Amino acid sequence: MTVSNERNKRTERHERWGWQHNQCSVDGCDRSVWKTDTKHGHGSQHMFDPYSFCHMEVGVMQGFFLSHIGYKANISTHCMWEFVENTPWMINIFRDDPRGLEYTGDSAINSVGDLISFYIGFIIGVTISKSNGRYVRLFAVLAILESIPFMLMRDNSVLLAFKVLKTIVARIG
Ligand SMILES: [Zn+2]
Repeated sequence: MTVSNERNKRTERHERWGWQHNQCSVDGCDRSVWKTDTKHGHGSQHMFDPYSFCHMEVGVMQGFFLSHIGYKANISTHCMWEFVENTPWMINIFRDDPRGLEYTGDSAINSVGDLISFYIGFIIGVTISKSNGRYVRLFAVLAILESIPFMLMRDNSVLLAFKVLKTIVARIG
């Protein structure tokens, strides 16, 4: 991609919501349940990809710290996040970063996978919150869940949070 093309793509506003496709619509894609490649249009299109670990991480934190509000309230918060994540507003925030250029929102099956990942993380979080040395275990689990996506795609929850905050601050300021 040439520099000017890339600049055009970055300033181009994305007007559509996510869930435009039920699953990955890249030509010739095997539509597998897991896809390591988050580029070339496959990102957030398969049921699970390295971003699933980020959703799992949020589940671990909520299971650890917020299990007292009940699992229905916790799952509802993640459903709300899936909704926000697929609004044109949020999609454009992700697209502001060069790594998010191809992001057009989640496919329907990816949102389902995100919720499953969140729930698995939630169960892990609740389990370790009741164990001995729970903070050490929490730290170890979070470190693993940050490392795996970083190794697979050079991105993770902390980097994502920084990118999103930076973009929001830049837009307000
Ligand atoms: Zn694909």
